[in-house]
Amino acid sequence: MPETVNTTSVAKLTHQEREELLQVTVLMGHTDGLPAGLEAALLGRAVGERFVVEVSGPAFDIGLVQSIPLTELPAGTPLGALLYAADDTGQPRSYRVTKLGDHIAELDANPEDAGQQRHFEVEVLTVRAATPEELAHRHVHGEGGHRH
Ligand SMILES: [Zn+2]
Repeated sequence: MPETVNTTSVAKLTHQEREELLQVTVLMGHTDGLPAGLEAALLGRAVGERFVVEVSGPAFDIGLVQSIPLTELPAGTPLGALLYAADDTGQPRSYRVTKLGDHIAELDANPEDAGQQRHFEVEVLTVRAATPEELAHRHVHGEGGHRH
């Protein structure tokens, strides 16, 4: 029986989205660096297994799109630029410039993957049980993890 991923495994895997191939070593339950949805898809997978995960980004919120006079943008701001500003409640937010008109700019505070389907090709390279120390620290030790 090949080792399979369970809730206390340390798994080394690659995940590829379009041309971007990344290799990571993760402790299940503490996979902050993984794209959302990949952790759940890893459970029960065996070493050497390859599979595809489709992940929906957060819902697109039209309320996060606003138009402002062009004069409120820093001069020369290009289309697609990311701006940082506080929102109505004082929370810092990033805004993407999604339209530049003659007098009006449109800013979108939705995450870039809002309303989009993402497609990851995943391969499980190795799986092992986490050590008690790793579980206590909530991160991976050794190769691909913390060295301390
Ligand atoms: Zn540690």
